[in-house]
Amino acid sequence: AIELKGVNKWFGTFHVLKNINLSVGLGEKVVICGPSGSGKSTVVRCINRLEEHQEGTIRVEGVELTNDPKSVAAIRSEVGMVFQQFNLFPHLTVLENLTLGPIKARGMTRSEAEARAMHYLERVHIPDQARKRPSQLSGGQQQRVAIARSLCMEPKVLLFDEPTSALDPEMISEVLDVMVTLAEEGMTMVVVTHEMGFARKVADQMVFMDAGEIVEQGPPEEFFGAPRSPRCQKFLSQIL
Ligand code: ATP
Ligand code: MG
Repeated sequence: AIELKGVNKWFGTFHVLKNINLSVGLGEKVVICGPSGSGKSTVVRCINRLEEHQEGTIRVEGVELTNDPKSVAAIRSEVGMVFQQFNLFPHLTVLENLTLGPIKARGMTRSEAEARAMHYLERVHIPDQARKRPSQLSGGQQQRVAIARSLCMEPKVLLFDEPTSALDPEMISEVLDVMVTLAEEGMTMVVVTHEMGFARKVADQMVFMDAGEIVEQGPPEEFFGAPRSPRCQKFLSQIL
């Protein structure tokens, strides 16, 4: 579903991504971890073209990411993204946040879009919050709205960038539970997180990044059981 080959990126003279190779198959779950500043967000942002890479190729569902606006639009319509800071529109209600994309980008009627929005709000267990504004919700509820908003576009792939790091501890599990359910239902997911309990439960592939490189990559049993690189060992010993 997603393939990165020899991807390099610079911010000015700063080499932020160094020869990234990553392949995510249909229904596969990849968890990316690593220290702050290692390039995790930049990788996922490149996958839906919020950032541009300068070398190498990125393909999503067979479509290569180029500057062609059609390629960008094609990718964006297949790839949903959930951010640490929710990124909901504060002046819109929950329901309006969810129906905006389907109406504007998918040409759905309001009533179709609302029916779909209610379906996904039920899936994240907050149908009763539909008429509120984001500021009237808890962080965990806001993040579940953000997930529902992505699901309303019925993406083939969901990217998550530290979706629980802005949440109070008691709200983390309600968001992770929704993500586990999505994973079990077969969604293709790339998740940047340090929630290693979640990673052990759902990951098919673990990726450890440091200083713009993928330093270690493999199935969770090996990754947690016998990490090979000292940098990864050190990182895991600090967070586990
Ligand atoms: P964190 O765990 O703190 O979220 P990260 O692994 O997601 O870190 P990135 O956000 O991908 O790291 O950033 C990687 C590096 O690129 C950092 O050194 C950061 O300062 C730098 N960087 C990120 N965005 C930009 C930008 N727009 N311009 C210049 N440098 C940037
Ligand atoms: Mg980040």
